[in-house]
Amino acid sequence: AAKKAGRNTFRFYTQDMNQRSAEFLLLENHLRLGLQKQEFVLHYQPQIDIRTRAVIGMEALVRWQHPELGLVPPNRFIPAAEETGLIVPLGAWAMQEACRQNKAWQDAGLLFAPVAVNVSARQFSEDLEQVTAAALQGADLAAQWLELEVTESTLMEDVNEAIVMLGTLKRMGVKLAVDDFGTGYSSLSYLKRFPIDKLKVDRSFVIDILDDPDDAAIAGAVISLAKNLRLKVIAEGVETSAQLDFLSGLGCDEMQGYLVAKPLPAEQVADFLARWSAKQL
Ligand code: C2E
Ligand code: MG
Ligand code: MG
Ligand code: MG
Repeated sequence: AAKKAGRNTFRFYTQDMNQRSAEFLLLENHLRLGLQKQEFVLHYQPQIDIRTRAVIGMEALVRWQHPELGLVPPNRFIPAAEETGLIVPLGAWAMQEACRQNKAWQDAGLLFAPVAVNVSARQFSEDLEQVTAAALQGADLAAQWLELEVTESTLMEDVNEAIVMLGTLKRMGVKLAVDDFGTGYSSLSYLKRFPIDKLKVDRSFVIDILDDPDDAAIAGAVISLAKNLRLKVIAEGVETSAQLDFLSGLGCDEMQGYLVAKPLPAEQVADFLARWSAKQL
């Protein structure tokens, strides 16, 4: 079919690709500049113990505070950052900043819970242990207060490498969570060889959990799997109390989602914690 379409198609395709790579270069340059100019910020989403309602963690989620575009969500620039390798310095910055912020919350007596930082595949196969050690040391934060979120697909890219890296991080005392669990295709037998602490039930299974029996079955299976492997399990993207009740009924330990709070700028976290603890009374 390609042959039959002839040269016109080829020319058209090339032009399209050139245009794409020009856009890509532009984004890459902007990202690089944004990093230099320190335009990235972290927002923090509370993670809650479903039974006690205690805040048991804060997930750090990066945003780009662009001078013209405003607050740009990560889905708009993380893929380009990954493809260009800029995720490595960006990710290192996010880890340092999250550790520094968590230390500041502890020093203020506000919060004693791990901060969870997302780590992408590219960082995972580079010197992640050095970057992690430097972030902890730079913030004077003990390793138990840092959790790293790695997606299921990252772990499956190179299983043996993943087992070694997770083992190293685990021995440092860092906590480990598998993000977006259920969306990749992991062989379940590998799960027991990964020294992880927690599974995160992907938001895509939570959205329709009340109406779609398949989603409910998958969420239930992930929760049972976690229990049987003695792992913690957290549901992400919980928006309604009906979803929360359902997940709680399935035995889910922890949750995060708009029901409790959207990701918050660091300076709003104190306020949130005060309101949240008042709500419990
Ligand atoms: P993720 O790690 O799975 O994070 C969960 C995403 O779901 C976040 O989107 C969060 O704001 C959103 N979310 C949480 N609760 C709810 C809810 O109740 N309803 C809805 N509709 N959404 C909810 P966000 O902040 O846009 O981040 C998207 C993704 O970008 C993250 O998915 C993560 O994969 C990536 N990301 C964010 N920060 C970083 C980072 O520092 N490094 C890397 N490598 N990736 C990051
Ligand atoms: Mg995450
Ligand atoms: Mg996730
Ligand atoms: Mg997700």
